[in-house]
Amino acid sequence: MTDFKKIEEEALLEVLHAAESYEEAALYNTEKVMQAFRKHMVSDFYLKPTTGYAYSDVGREKLDEIYADIFKTEAALVRSQFVSGTHALAVALLGVLKAGDEVIAATGTPYDTMQTIIGVPVKTPGSLTDLGVVYKEIPMIGSQIDLEKITAAITAKTKMIHIQRSCGYSSVRKTLRIEEIGTICKAAKAIKPDIICFVDNCYGEFIEKQEPTEVGADLMAGSLIKNLGGGLAPTGGYIVGRKDLVELASYRLTAPGLGGEMGATLGDTARELYQGLFLAPHIVLQAVKTAIFASAVFSRLGYQVTPSANDRRSDIIQTIRLETKERLCNFCIAIQKNSPVDAHVVPVPAIIPGYQDEIIMAAGTFVQGASIELSADGPCREPYNVYFQGGLTFEHGRIAIMSAAKMVGEK
Ligand SMILES: *Cc1c(COP(=O)(O)O)cnc(C)c1O
Repeated sequence: MTDFKKIEEEALLEVLHAAESYEEAALYNTEKVMQAFRKHMVSDFYLKPTTGYAYSDVGREKLDEIYADIFKTEAALVRSQFVSGTHALAVALLGVLKAGDEVIAATGTPYDTMQTIIGVPVKTPGSLTDLGVVYKEIPMIGSQIDLEKITAAITAKTKMIHIQRSCGYSSVRKTLRIEEIGTICKAAKAIKPDIICFVDNCYGEFIEKQEPTEVGADLMAGSLIKNLGGGLAPTGGYIVGRKDLVELASYRLTAPGLGGEMGATLGDTARELYQGLFLAPHIVLQAVKTAIFASAVFSRLGYQVTPSANDRRSDIIQTIRLETKERLCNFCIAIQKNSPVDAHVVPVPAIIPGYQDEIIMAAGTFVQGASIELSADGPCREPYNVYFQGGLTFEHGRIAIMSAAKMVGEK
């Protein structure tokens, strides 16, 4: 008989120990956000809705400036008009790259939805390769970046290096730490100083004290229903980086000539984006603690977990190698059952646009699909990894993980 009570107690001790450095990062990042709010004199009228063209929407303009300050960049584009993180990433890439330009993926095969945007392995209509952009990919060697191959692949035509911070749905690579992103940027720029280092920062925001834009990333994008929305943002994405590059991206979001000067902030969105950003460092900490707890519990049940409880993390994702479809489904069923919304629903595997394999997802979230809220998903393919992330409160995460542990059982 598995002693779940004992496993839970031991896992809690591990969280207590391992969470210390993330608590420090949360404090540091809260201070960072507060300083930016103070500097830009955030006021009640920034939080009000706008309509129509929304010229000189001060709340929208100031939020861009606040994001730019937090990420230490020249410019930012923070918008509820981005329908997802994928959209923000696509707008950044499609805005900057032109036919004949070459882009090198330095961290191997990108996240599933990004493959559709790049147009690999299939040249999807409207994708980068369909538009005539040349794409090269350098796989990671296990958990390591292959710096030699990356630098050797750079030619006169190489316009951009694509770096994905988080491991995504890959079972072969690890999440990059900030220093490693810095190493890639530095090496690429040593060969070609005008190369654009682009980072997919999804799931990585506010885990560490620094962000990729502080170590050489020129352009970066991500989702607001992940870390930075703090659980409150109802939708949206962000792009931060060099002014000229963010501007090019803004012409793809709206239209050439219009850029970021327009776009209404409807309903309560402005408040949700500001308050979500204010909460984000703390919410990210809740998610990290939940991930550490899950790692500690499932390693005790005999499963391979990545990262392990004491590894240094650079995103909120916890991978658990469940090895059978039944366990993967049971895990997701348990998470769904312990969700605040749709707890009565039983998830089943299905094909989702943009993804290659059937995916099973558990997401009983207030904001549809928000993965800063407790959620689990996994593609139905070997080795049946479940990717688990989020948790607005550690208490909730703890309850759900213990339920999943009992449902999945020992290996
Ligand atoms: C989540 C994520 C994306 C974007 O996904 P959306 O669901 O469109 O927000 C892109 N890249 C990575 C690595 C991600 O984790």
